[in-house]
Amino acid sequence: MTAQVIDGKAIAATMRAELKAEVETLKDRGIVPGLGLILVGDDAASQSYVRAKERACEEAGIYSDDNRLAADTSQDELMGLVERMNGDPKIHGILVQLPLPKQINEAEVLLAIDPAKDVDGFHPVSVGRMVLGQAGFLPCTPHGVVQLLLRSGVTIEGAHVVIVGRSNIVGKPLANMLIQKKEGANATVTVCHTRTKDLARHTRQADIVIAAAGRPNTVTADMIKDGAVVIDVGVNRVEDATKKKGYRLAGDVDFEAVREKASLITPVPGGVGPMTITMLLYNTVESAKMAAGML
Ligand code: NAP
Repeated sequence: MTAQVIDGKAIAATMRAELKAEVETLKDRGIVPGLGLILVGDDAASQSYVRAKERACEEAGIYSDDNRLAADTSQDELMGLVERMNGDPKIHGILVQLPLPKQINEAEVLLAIDPAKDVDGFHPVSVGRMVLGQAGFLPCTPHGVVQLLLRSGVTIEGAHVVIVGRSNIVGKPLANMLIQKKEGANATVTVCHTRTKDLARHTRQADIVIAAAGRPNTVTADMIKDGAVVIDVGVNRVEDATKKKGYRLAGDVDFEAVREKASLITPVPGGVGPMTITMLLYNTVESAKMAAGML
């Protein structure tokens, strides 16, 4: 069996077009969704992520308030900016780009964000709501994975999902979303990590394998049952002398070999990646609707 490749770019483009149309409708009612972006320092990767978020907002018609702060910004300055955004009615979502410089207490900053504007879904209040199955902001990458599955026609209900990785931003929230007793969830979930004994024994039993380990070739063809769905969250730089930059991007899955056994598979790049910013836009629009009393 050769797997069908899930086109994350196309699914993200469809969702962004839906959001753009929704933003236009909201604007007709005088509501302009707004996202406050905060970047501290000059980390090249963070700068490019923030630029991509700004561009995405612009394309969707979402107002963005971009704040670039110097690398030596103090805790007080940053907390002051978060407080200003908490009180700004034009801003429905606040995103503090991580990682923050060493002098900043990251947990304190994230805790200061008004949970009603926590579009990254990392505030303990958002995490608690997600675990309890209550309405709230879902973290963008795991929510993007769920959307990719559903929009590719994968039945999650009753499926055995094996997640490789237990981080707070991908593995743990994903497991929580998939076990919820609700439509589009109801999966049986196994979460694996570096202390898991015999990882392959678990992945071979999975209807859906989700790799979020941050290591190339963590999931190989012998670890997959025939016809399984394989989602690759990993983004790794692999040395490649044939490339101008000297590296190429690879996921956690041995794509070419696993593709011959799976029924559906995501590529890297072009799989989960494009969904993350899309879900940030989604959360910002939802937040604007909530602030306007529409939800
Ligand atoms: P992380 O915080 O480093 O967590 C990695 C997890 O994988 C840990 O729980 C670790 O186990 C587990 N793990 C690592 N190697 C393993 C192995 N050989 N066998 C079993 N488990 C293993 O990483 P993350 O932040 O969750 O990110 C994971 C990957 O997704 C990274 O490549 C990251 O770049 C990518 N990512 C992509 C997006 C996107 O938008 N596409 C967004 C976020 C992350 P322990 O807990 O035991 O250490």
